[in-house]
Amino acid sequence: MHIFDTSAVTTPAFVFNQSRLLAMGRLLAQLRASSGCKALYSIKALPLLPVLELLAPYLDGFSVSSLFEARLAALTGAASLHITTPGLRREEMAELGGLCDHINFNSLEQFQHLAGLAGPDTSLGLRINPGLSFLDDDRYNPCRSHSRLGVPMAQFPEAWRQTDVRAKLSGLHFHTLFSSASFAPLAATVEHIGRTLGDAVLTSLDWINLGGGYLFDSVEQMDELGCIVRNIRTRWGLEVFFEPGKAVAGVAGYWVGSILDMFVRDGKTIAVLDTTVNHHPEIFEYQKRPEPAWQEPDNGFPVLLTGCSCLAGDILGEFRFASRPCLGQRVVFRNAGAYSLIKANRFNGYNLPSVYLWDGAEDIRQLKSYAWEDYARQWQADPC
Ligand SMILES: *Cc1c(COP(=O)(O)O)cnc(C)c1O
Repeated sequence: MHIFDTSAVTTPAFVFNQSRLLAMGRLLAQLRASSGCKALYSIKALPLLPVLELLAPYLDGFSVSSLFEARLAALTGAASLHITTPGLRREEMAELGGLCDHINFNSLEQFQHLAGLAGPDTSLGLRINPGLSFLDDDRYNPCRSHSRLGVPMAQFPEAWRQTDVRAKLSGLHFHTLFSSASFAPLAATVEHIGRTLGDAVLTSLDWINLGGGYLFDSVEQMDELGCIVRNIRTRWGLEVFFEPGKAVAGVAGYWVGSILDMFVRDGKTIAVLDTTVNHHPEIFEYQKRPEPAWQEPDNGFPVLLTGCSCLAGDILGEFRFASRPCLGQRVVFRNAGAYSLIKANRFNGYNLPSVYLWDGAEDIRQLKSYAWEDYARQWQADPC
């Protein structure tokens, strides 16, 4: 696998492959052209402005989950911004209405309280919860029982009978998956929605937003999605939005640390890195093993890679190296671009990772680094 010159990187760091980001942009552009689908990037996975600017020419716009994300995405000059969040605030509605052309309400209650405050140029939608579950782990299953994410579909017909709802509502939103490598659950969910709500409701709306939660990186997968989109468009005449996050940013990102210390404990070689699970918290939250960017040899030298925080469970996993690694050696993980930097924190006072953009060939440049001053300001100290 060809990667960047790791010695050019100050660690800890996240490195983003620009050519990979552009390739994902082109894949979405192709989906738009072949199916008429509107493609948005859900910026919460990696809201780095230079990345948004790289992607913008390939997309219809961005999807956001808060006022700050909306302000950030608006800096790209994107034509379309959609917001979906359970956390809409009354005092933010006017500004959100100015920034976003689509607002999705998470409950009927918020729709009734806040829909009138968005202004006339915003198209209003309701997040529905199809209640069709495809995930075993309730921590990231929007269709879990007692879910607060979206209006249960059984309650929708009742809402639809209210003339004020019907007068204001233009679209539906759903988002029900987490890292699904297949679009079969999407096809099943669309069928379920069609059966439950019926053609009369669906044909009287303007649009439907399919959410994100899917992983894809091939033309074949885009064809599969394009087929579902064309089906929705011809059946109900709806404009269709798709808003992936992780699929776009994940594969483009590398997580880089260096070995600070090595020793043996209970017969295992332990390496302590200058990074921690707090720089990629989902590794700890979901107890996932990060993906090494090097080819692990079958009978290599096993090392338990660990982070430098005070947490006993700050463990990345056991990895094999061609030979015993050296102090200072770089360790690189791939597929780490989504939900990492945005969730990284300075626990224990460790600096946040630096951020680099790599062109996919020889050129790598630093976009951002953090310093003592940033930490000091965060905790109300005078950095001087
Ligand atoms: C998080 C989220 C997305 C993007 O999800 P990915 O898993 O990153 O593709 C899209 N829409 C909504 C409403 C979300 O909450």
